[in-house]
Amino acid sequence: MLLMFADDVVLISDTITGLQNQLNILHKYSEYSSLEVNLDKTNIVVFRRGGRLARNEKWFLNGQPITTLSTYKYLGVVFSSTFKMRNCITDLALRGKRALMEVISNLNGIGIIDPSVYLKIFDAQIQPILLYGAEIWGMHRFYEIEKVHLIACKRFLNVSPQTPTAIVYGECGRYPLYINALCKTLKYWVKVIHMHEDRIPLKVYKMQVYYDNCGYKTYASYIREILFAHGFGYVWMSQTVGDAALFLSRFKTVAINIFLQSWNSTLNNSSRYHMYREFKSLLTPEKYLSCILDKKFRNILTKFRCGLLRLKYNEGRWLNVEVAERSCPLCNLGVEDEYHFIFTCTEYNALRLKYLPCIYQKQPNYYKFKSLLSTNNETTLRNLCKYIYHAYKSRTIKLQ
Ligand SMILES: [Zn+2]
Repeated sequence: MLLMFADDVVLISDTITGLQNQLNILHKYSEYSSLEVNLDKTNIVVFRRGGRLARNEKWFLNGQPITTLSTYKYLGVVFSSTFKMRNCITDLALRGKRALMEVISNLNGIGIIDPSVYLKIFDAQIQPILLYGAEIWGMHRFYEIEKVHLIACKRFLNVSPQTPTAIVYGECGRYPLYINALCKTLKYWVKVIHMHEDRIPLKVYKMQVYYDNCGYKTYASYIREILFAHGFGYVWMSQTVGDAALFLSRFKTVAINIFLQSWNSTLNNSSRYHMYREFKSLLTPEKYLSCILDKKFRNILTKFRCGLLRLKYNEGRWLNVEVAERSCPLCNLGVEDEYHFIFTCTEYNALRLKYLPCIYQKQPNYYKFKSLLSTNNETTLRNLCKYIYHAYKSRTIKLQ
């Protein structure tokens, strides 16, 4: 058994002497064809459940010992002796983060860029690094991979690393990368089941299905679980998908819908989002991110929307103070939350007259609050930023 790709050769054996015999044949062949095996790049990995190597687990090429390692990077994927993907994922996340930092430092100085451009750069340059080899590991969710995605979004929003994930996805209109990883796995599975029966991947897959039927957990077991969890159990039963492109697009839609349900329930089931859920219902990128080009105005609106401004309500949440004790330090007419700050605090009456459209100045209610914070009108958004910026500045000065 051997795998060949370009100038790489992988010898595979399940016995010690079997591998040594293969190495002897390789040596004979390389002598015959005047090719040289680079021993610096040649290593052995003994795949096993754990434990040390036995004394006789040593191999030689033309009398020279070959180093045995516990991990080896083959075609960009780190394989570990226990077949755990952890090392591979750590390596991908590290490389992805490095590439992200390079992109961010290249973009520095350009000023504010459109979220669609920034996220397109992420999807074209960073995501392929992060999801490399997801065909074989995409059925598992790895936080390290998602973390790089979240760093990219948080850097773009210019918010602290502690900002809740649901809000970060919400503002940028992003889905977690595991959905794309899952789709890559399924796409590869579709490719394998349609292969000619002589192909090794199909033979390996059939072997895995056999072991899955015997009760062992294999790659095929994960595929089965994913298909059933997404309502495609019948596809597993028939082991065929019909129109592959249509199946994959349907699968992706279902995976996104499942995520949207959990995103919505996160917003609805925690008091952290009591204000955010008032104005955010669709997972689409926010208009203000592309039309407010002044950094100080855009940042203050982001912080306001994410519940990161130091209003008494948010401060009380960080310090665990009773809601009743979070009243406005300026007017003392109720809890100082985002709604109070925009609509009812008497300290900002003049600013309100100057910046907010007339409709928002009389008879304020939560419906109007939602409408103002989810508006796509550029002028309203610009004035809202100015209102928040100046009101917050005067608040800071008065409380000094
Ligand atoms: Zn007030």
